[in-house]
Amino acid sequence: MKAILVIADGLGGRPSDLDGQTCAEAASTPNLDALAEDGALGLVDPIGPGIRPGSDTAHLSLLGYDPFALYTGRGVFECLGIGMDVKTGDVCFRANFATVLDTDHGFRLVDRRAGRLETGQDELEVALNRIELTETPGVQVMFRASTQHRGAVVLRGEGLSPHVTETDAHRVDALVLEARPSDSDPASARTADAVNEYTRKSYQALHDHPVNRKRLAQRNPPANIVLLRGASTCPRIPSLESIYDVRGAVIAGGALYRGVALACGMTSIDVPGATGGLDTDLGAKARAALDALDTVDYVFVHVKGTDNAGHDRDAAAKVAFIERIDAELIGPLVDGIDRDATHLAFTGDHTTPIDYGDHTVEPVPVLFAGPNVARDAVTSFGEREAGRGGLGRFSGRVLPILLGYCNWAPKFGS
Ligand code: ZN
Ligand code: ZN
Repeated sequence: MKAILVIADGLGGRPSDLDGQTCAEAASTPNLDALAEDGALGLVDPIGPGIRPGSDTAHLSLLGYDPFALYTGRGVFECLGIGMDVKTGDVCFRANFATVLDTDHGFRLVDRRAGRLETGQDELEVALNRIELTETPGVQVMFRASTQHRGAVVLRGEGLSPHVTETDAHRVDALVLEARPSDSDPASARTADAVNEYTRKSYQALHDHPVNRKRLAQRNPPANIVLLRGASTCPRIPSLESIYDVRGAVIAGGALYRGVALACGMTSIDVPGATGGLDTDLGAKARAALDALDTVDYVFVHVKGTDNAGHDRDAAAKVAFIERIDAELIGPLVDGIDRDATHLAFTGDHTTPIDYGDHTVEPVPVLFAGPNVARDAVTSFGEREAGRGGLGRFSGRVLPILLGYCNWAPKFGS
């Protein structure tokens, strides 16, 4: 047996998306409809009924974990997702290059994203990784750039805590914030000191860097400081392999999703052209998933464009992307697998309706197909069709259900 899980981020919608239809209902999806005819549908509350999901917590839940017990914050998944090594006790942050003016009152924010810089991040990274914290001895700090202005930071050392506030004021003209401990643990005060020293030293390391001199000469905002937010520690997540005794791989353009899957014990497959956006190469992802099934038991493919279009309140883009998923990802996957020995699941991690432009609490359609799936009466894919499906409505755990169809679920009790 083999299994494929496809999650389209923010797939779900509302009837207000398009004159009484959701984007998934309005999209023409012949391949998903054919799978619906062969398989079974239902509605899944990604975390639970009435819980408005973030993408990271929703993914943990869909992969079979309890995010209320495990979740420590987003930073650690970003760090893992961009290939950083994270150890127990490390404190991870999301980081971004920003542009500031050094004033008598502090660093004044000019551009939170340093003009979304496109080049030079690697050289800036080298300069940042020479920083040594002398006022908070025993704390090591590692920076890694990801895309544009984005990156991540790991603090390593004895006696650190994730309970510190962020330095990003999220507002132009505001001063860069001092990190503060958010509880009375001395480790939190020590971590806040380390963050504040790092912030100052990031400016020292960057403001006169050749990359920034060149940016200034070209009238681009310099990437002259690093802002930190989303402090989190490494959660203790038992690996999927330790639970199901099978091996899985993740294919995702977005670092956050790779990071969640890596934290759960999957291996990551890099696919050139997988961007984590609307322009992603879905055909390349399909080919990589089929190749991966030669060596692993299951593959998790994440696509992000649906959520981007939802946040942009762009119904036409969301419909078009769902149609691309159907034609360029689902079609080739179905054509490439052994239908008698492969189970497939397709769902979203939450709804991102067009009128709201952010995640909402409604459940998401979910589809299972494969030799052990009892076919239901539904013959097309969409929210209302899924609501009539044979699987009813359930919470999270889509991957465990999929692996269960493959006879890989451990027995609870005797
Ligand atoms: Zn999401
Ligand atoms: Zn989103």
